[in-house]
Amino acid sequence: MAEARVFGVVAGTLAEPRIAYLKQRAEITPELRDSLGEIDPTLVFRYSGRCENARCGQFADGQCGLGQRILEQLAPVVSALPSCQIRATCRWHEERGDAICLRCPQVMTRVPPDQTALRSAARAVVAS
Ligand code: SF4
Repeated sequence: MAEARVFGVVAGTLAEPRIAYLKQRAEITPELRDSLGEIDPTLVFRYSGRCENARCGQFADGQCGLGQRILEQLAPVVSALPSCQIRATCRWHEERGDAICLRCPQVMTRVPPDQTALRSAARAVVAS
């Protein structure tokens, strides 16, 4: 992803993974990358990236279709806004407001195979 940036770490449980939002900007250094060994960083970290607008397969009707489906298909998993360092520039928040932030902690950069609801939300436009 262009301008990819880490802003969270996957926490929670295997059954219910949840993002722990970082308090400060972080970089994936070569040393940190090496410490993961064979583990793909996208399984461990939550990344943001530059919105590609119409060049992205998730884009629909002038908006992020992924954010729309997450709001429509996934239930909130927290009752208060996560302390998120990218909110000021987050397209999902700009388009969907605080309601999407209450669902956001269940969103993984690399969706685990058993997270069927999230996989469904992520695939809807791509598969159609
Ligand atoms: S939806 Fe909310 S919590 Fe998720 S990345 Fe955007 S601002 Fe942060």
